[in-house]
This record gives sequence, structure tokens and C-alpha cells, in this order.
Amino acid sequence: MPTDRQAMFEEKSFWLRDYGFYHPNKALDSHITADVCIIGGGFSGLSTAYEFKKINPNATVVVIEAAIIGYGASGRNGGFSMKLFGLEPEVTVWRWGEQKTVEAHHYMTKAVAHVRSLNEEHNFQADYRHTGMFRVAYSDRQLKRLDNTYTLFQKLGIDSDMSWCSKDTLAAEFNTSRFLGATYETETGLLNPCKQVRELKKICMQLGVAIYESTPAIDIQESITLKVTTPKGSITSDKLVICTNGYTRNLPSVNLKSVNLKKHQLPVWTYQIVTEPLTAGQWHSIGWQNRQAVEDNRQLVHYFRPTADGRITMGGGMVDVAYGSNMNKDVNPKAWQHCEDHLKWIYPQLQEVKIAYRWGGPTSVNIDMTPEIGFLNSNKIIYTCGCIGHGVSLTHLNGKLIAQLLSEQSSDLTDFWIVNRKAIRLPGDIISWCSAKAISQSLKLVDKFEERGLY
Ligand SMILES: Cc1cc2nc3c(=O)[nH]c(=O)nc-3n(C[C@H](O)[C@H](O)[C@H](O)COP(=O)(O)OP(=O)(O)OC[C@H]3O[C@@H](n4cnc5c(N)ncnc54)[C@H](O)[C@@H]3O)c2cc1C
Repeated sequence: MPTDRQAMFEEKSFWLRDYGFYHPNKALDSHITADVCIIGGGFSGLSTAYEFKKINPNATVVVIEAAIIGYGASGRNGGFSMKLFGLEPEVTVWRWGEQKTVEAHHYMTKAVAHVRSLNEEHNFQADYRHTGMFRVAYSDRQLKRLDNTYTLFQKLGIDSDMSWCSKDTLAAEFNTSRFLGATYETETGLLNPCKQVRELKKICMQLGVAIYESTPAIDIQESITLKVTTPKGSITSDKLVICTNGYTRNLPSVNLKSVNLKKHQLPVWTYQIVTEPLTAGQWHSIGWQNRQAVEDNRQLVHYFRPTADGRITMGGGMVDVAYGSNMNKDVNPKAWQHCEDHLKWIYPQLQEVKIAYRWGGPTSVNIDMTPEIGFLNSNKIIYTCGCIGHGVSLTHLNGKLIAQLLSEQSSDLTDFWIVNRKAIRLPGDIISWCSAKAISQSLKLVDKFEERGLY
């Protein structure tokens, strides 16, 4: 029987609830030492632990998770293991130039391949399917922008897995007239994120990583060693990795000399719904036989996909931010209604289909919309953040990169330019909140303009 606390965690996404019985590890209740301590039990934290243990089999590695494994974005996301880096390629080119955009693209291609091969190598039971992904346009203006993006990819020579799809092709594939055109990329996979993160937990434990759940870091002190205090214990370690993603703003990092992790990123919430399983007749009515991943070419993007048990999950279209240290934004009926309306706008055939589950979660967004991995104070502490809403594949490969940094190895991964990059810091709470609201409103207006007369 799950405890009330565990049941509360399971409410946080369809995937967490659908997972069924889950037996969390016990909380830390003593004072221990380790070579490496990792805070955060999502893809980033567990991938780092696994990859570090692979390189250093005799090292002691501890992961502490405040709630249960997969409680954060890793147990709630859409499950798109995709190549998109940051917000959009145009933004990356504008901020970082063409060369770095190409390098980021190659990194993401490796990231998708890495997730796929992890699944294959360890026979993960995470419903992984290498489906490819469409990016669809609903209006002429969106189509024009998509065409520009495709041209940019061709110009940069990073279009090898991409092709252009006409309205007729899409109508035949999806049985809807809403898609005016699309790009299709073969290198995208779909997975069940909660199963994926718990399969990662399993392989970590097989290598001897100690994982403590219900164990929040409540204080971090740095002297010759590092000490992380938890409610009933502590970990003294030589190195520390901070993998708390959108939750980083509330991390007790005040005692780390001159470091304010709060200023590195802002949690931005995205919301999702999932239908009840569709009947064979309903599937027949909508086509989509190859069950690929789909995103649209809006500013406030929608992402939608079939699940392994024959449902459709739809997310995005609206985002939200919270003020100050508030992390209480997982519920958003307006965003859920928006997702449902959008699904039924694409597929009027599904008008009667019921929504089985609704949820939301924080992504980690930084000012220049670019992922970031860096050292704090000394080389003993590494943090990672800023995966935007595109962290599934990225965080897995970042784990390998961070493991190499911890092991003082250098490779093509550790040379990736997001490591120790120059990052713009967020202003104070009021300005950050107002700016985030203003940006999301502007994106909404652009969508409204580009979709005039559509709905
Ligand atoms: C609804 C939603 C849909 C998304 N869809 C996609 C998608 O389809 N494709 C894609 O690429 N990306 C998607 N993302 C983004 C992606 O899920 C994230 O980038 C990725 O999961 C981040 O992994 P992480 O391990 O860095 O962070 P998280 O999974 O957020 O893990 C951080 C962990 O740290 C723990 N923690 C926080 N504070 C403490 C503390 N003090 N002590 C101990 N532990 C602590 C939290 O409980 C949490 O479990 C989506 C995100 C959301 C929310």
C-alpha cells in the first residue's frame, strides 16, 4: 500500500501513477562519507552517478532525492528523446553563432543515440520506440517560418535526417486537414519517462550507487571537503554535483561562497493531459499508424504523441512561472483545457474522448535559453541547469559529460562549449518574474497573430 506521501507524489503525473507499485529506497538516517554526492534523482543525477561509477568502479557514489525517483521533470515529461537544443535553432544562432549551433546539434544527435543505446544495451522496460518526429505548421505564417528553419538546417549542413512533408502527405498519415506542412526528423525516440528514470535507478544500484529517497539536502557547507546535511543525516564528500533542475532556486546554497544558484535559472511550468485509451475504431479514424512524435511550429509549442497503451498525450501551448521561492504551480486547469481543446481541434473525431489525467511540472529556463554546466567556486562542485523543455536526451548525455569532468578526463564531450560557458545571471525576483510573464505574453501574441482566423 502506498503511503499518503507516496500517493501525493504519484499524483504528479500520469506516468508516475501508471507505474504501479513502487518501492522507494529508505531515507538517509546516518552520517556517511562518499567520493561523490549527487543531489537530485532525475535523469541528470542518475546518469551522472551511473557513468561515474562505470569509469570509477571503486568509488563511493551517493544520490539523494528529496521525494522519490522521478518526482521532478524526469517523471513527468512528454518522453520525447529529441535533438532540439535550447529554445530554437534561430535563437542559438543569434546568441552563439553558426559554428556553436552545429556543435550543439551534433551533441544532441549523440544524446538521442545515447538514450537509444542505453535502452537497447540494458533492455530497459521503458517503452522506447525510435519513431521520428514531425514539426507541423497550422498556418501559412508558421509554414513560412518552418521553411526558413529547414533552409537554415540545410545551410548549416545539419539536415541529414530531415525531410519536408506536404499537406497531402500529412493528411494521408494523420487523417487531419490541420497540418499544412511539416519537417520530419528520423532521429527522435519516444519513451515512458517514469519507467526510464527508474530503469536508470536500477542500473545505478547494480553498480553499487547508494540512492536515498525522501532525503532533501537542507544545507550545504564547503570547506576542505563538502558537507550536505539532510533531515536525519549528512554526507561528507570530496565532490558534489547539483542536479536539481527547476527546483534549484530553493536549494540551500547560501553557504557556498559568493554563489547564488538562484540566479542561474527560473522554473517555468509546462502542462500535459492524457486521454483514456482510444478504441480501435478511434485509432482507425485518425490514422497516425506509425505513432510518431509530433510538435508544432508555434512559439508556445504543443507536443503530442501516442502512449504505449494506446492513449494520446498532449502538452504545451501555455506556460506559467511562479514568484520567488514558490514551486506550487503544478495545477493549471486553463492550460489543461487548452490542451484538450487543441487535441480536439486537430481531431474532431475525438470529441467524445475523455481526458484521463492532467498534470504539470517545472522545466529549468535560463536567460539565454541555453543549457549550462559549470563549476562552482572550485572544481569540487558541478551544477547543471537550463535544459528548457528539451532535456530528456540532453540530460542523459550531460550525465556522461559530468562523470568525465568529475574524473578529470577530457574528451569531445567535456569540450562542449556549454561547459563553463559565460552565462547571463537573472535579475532579482520581481524583475525575473515580470520579464518571464512579459516574454510568455509576447509569445502568445505572436501565436495569436500567426494563427488569425484558425480557431
Ligand atoms: C511536463 C513536462 C514535459 C516535458 N517534456 C519533455 C519532452 O518531451 N522532451 C524533452 O526533451 N524534455 C521535456 N521536458 C524537460 C525534461 O523533462 C527535463 O529537462 C529533464 O527531465 C530534467 O531532468 P533533471 O534530472 O535535470 O531534473 P528533474 O527530473 O527535475 O530532477 C530534479 C530532482 O531534484 C530533486 N530535488 C530538488 N531539490 C532537492 C533537494 N534539496 N534535495 C534533494 N533532491 C532535490 C527533485 O525532487 C527532482 O526529482 C519536459 C518537462 C516537463 C515538466
